Amino acid sequence: MEEMYDIIIIGGGPAGMFAAFYASLRNQKVLLVEALADLGGQVQTLYPDKKIWDVAGLPGVTGRELVVHLQEQLGKFPVTVKTQTKVTDLVADGETWLVQVEGTDEAIKGRAVILATGKGAFEPRRLQVENESLLENRGLAYFAPDLSVYRGKKVAVLGGGDAAVDLATELDGVAAQTYLLHRRDQFRALEQAVLALEQTGVVKKTPLKVDQVRQESDGTLDLTLSHVKNKEEVIHLAVDNLLVQYGFSTKGMDAMHWSVDLDWDAAGLIVQDHIRTKQARLFAIGDITSYPGHSDLIATGFGQAPAAVNAAIEAINPASAGPGHSSSLNL
Ligand SMILES: Cc1cc2nc3c(=O)[nH]c(=O)nc-3n(C[C@H](O)[C@H](O)[C@H](O)COP(=O)(O)OP(=O)(O)OC[C@H]3O[C@@H](n4cnc5c(N)ncnc54)[C@H](O)[C@@H]3O)c2cc1C
Repeated sequence: MEEMYDIIIIGGGPAGMFAAFYASLRNQKVLLVEALADLGGQVQTLYPDKKIWDVAGLPGVTGRELVVHLQEQLGKFPVTVKTQTKVTDLVADGETWLVQVEGTDEAIKGRAVILATGKGAFEPRRLQVENESLLENRGLAYFAPDLSVYRGKKVAVLGGGDAAVDLATELDGVAAQTYLLHRRDQFRALEQAVLALEQTGVVKKTPLKVDQVRQESDGTLDLTLSHVKNKEEVIHLAVDNLLVQYGFSTKGMDAMHWSVDLDWDAAGLIVQDHIRTKQARLFAIGDITSYPGHSDLIATGFGQAPAAVNAAIEAINPASAGPGHSSSLNL
């Protein structure tokens, strides 16, 4: 028989990890449930080597380092963590939430639930060439979790946003030569990221689009590139690796299909006071939430997490004292 948790947090991205820590700081019996094998959400899965500049107090922390810090914080007080546990439904049974997970009929019980499931499972936007599926992981890739594999290689990065510009900048000094190919003359990345790119030896080739990719017998890739404005102008570029950074799309949020009645709009789960769903003792934080002025930022979830945990505690135990300051603890 599964035990009863005070607070179950669904989704182990930065918002869920911090909420789980904060709930444990407030001495709750906490469960953190994550579908993937690793905690860290988008930060861990999509951009572990990218530097993040807008998390307060941690300038230039990489995604991976941030997750390590969050893990360390999460280990301070007892929290039960279940990874590789995908939630498939959420049902109310009186004052108890029943969390159904893949692979078992037995529900996990909680007095309050915080949804921190982000925007759903991420899928990279694919390169539109005929043989794309044959080339994937044979020179063409959408993720670059370990830059050292590109050491000494000729690498072309495709795209013009933050991910492409940052990745090209990071590859400079690792790869023998890095090219950044974009279909526009201007890059859409953060101004500071574009300035950092200017300081590197990355060769920018714009405005060009990839028409064909042919794999040679030695494994290298021959890219056929056409000039966006002057279609007659065709260039060939030979590289060892092609890293496509066209961004990501989501297949939708799992929670939309759960039994629980919630309000959604195009941006996500509609919440009041930044954290409250229409259901009692059910809260939401991070990228899943939608309210006027919401931004999909790590800092947003970090701000919502204590608010949701404190509201959950007040809901399940109105007599409990309010939040104190962690600095008053003598640890
Ligand atoms: C390329 C890129 C760069 C970015 N750069 C920055 C930046 O510089 N600064 C910044 O502030 N933000 C940045 N962001 C945005 C930031 O990563 C997100 O705002 C943040 O990760 C949201 O955290 P979250 O915990 O709400 O959701 P997520 O990080 O999406 O985590 C949600 C977690 O829930 C899990 N989950 C989903 N469904 C289920 C289910 N059914 N059962 C169990 N688990 C489930 C997922 O597996 C995932 O681990 C960037 C995003 C991208 C894609």
